[in-house]
Amino acid sequence: MTVAYVGLGSNLGDREALIGRAAALLGATRVSSIVETEPWGYVEQPKFLNAAAEVETALSARALLDRLLDVERSLGRERIGPRWGPRLIDLDLLVYGDETIDEPGLTVPHPEIVTRRFVLEPLAELAPSLEIPGFGTVSALLAGLQSSS
Ligand code: ADP
Ligand code: MG
Repeated sequence: MTVAYVGLGSNLGDREALIGRAAALLGATRVSSIVETEPWGYVEQPKFLNAAAEVETALSARALLDRLLDVERSLGRERIGPRWGPRLIDLDLLVYGDETIDEPGLTVPHPEIVTRRFVLEPLAELAPSLEIPGFGTVSALLAGLQSSS
């Protein structure tokens, strides 16, 4: 079994319920608190709710990513169908054990981890001393982010 961490985000529909359902569908062993965050980049859209979940899995990283994308699709289709727009649910594979993966369509640790407070804060609640392969511990990364902003 491998311990993996998944980032969950939603900015459309019943955001809290969608995050809860995604975590349940993934069989998460632990889920962080949910934090509300301002949209970044494309700012003309509703605020996001973000959380992190811990998943103990027998799946490979690639199979787990496929599972995340399946859950995204199943929750999205149920709500509004295949329309473009803000995210009903976004599931990112943040960390997969101590592995570093850089393949087409799969980069682990997820590159956004180190720069985004809304990813690090929920992760720090679950696993402050977790080592992000190649980057240091979650708490050190968060401290660095706080002192530079
Ligand atoms: P965002 O970068 O905003 O999360 P998407 O969710 O639309 O954008 O991106 C999904 C694509 O990102 C997937 O098709 C997947 O192949 C790719 N991807 C690469 N690495 C990861 C990862 N660690 N977790 C999730 N998706 C990833
Ligand atoms: Mg994504």
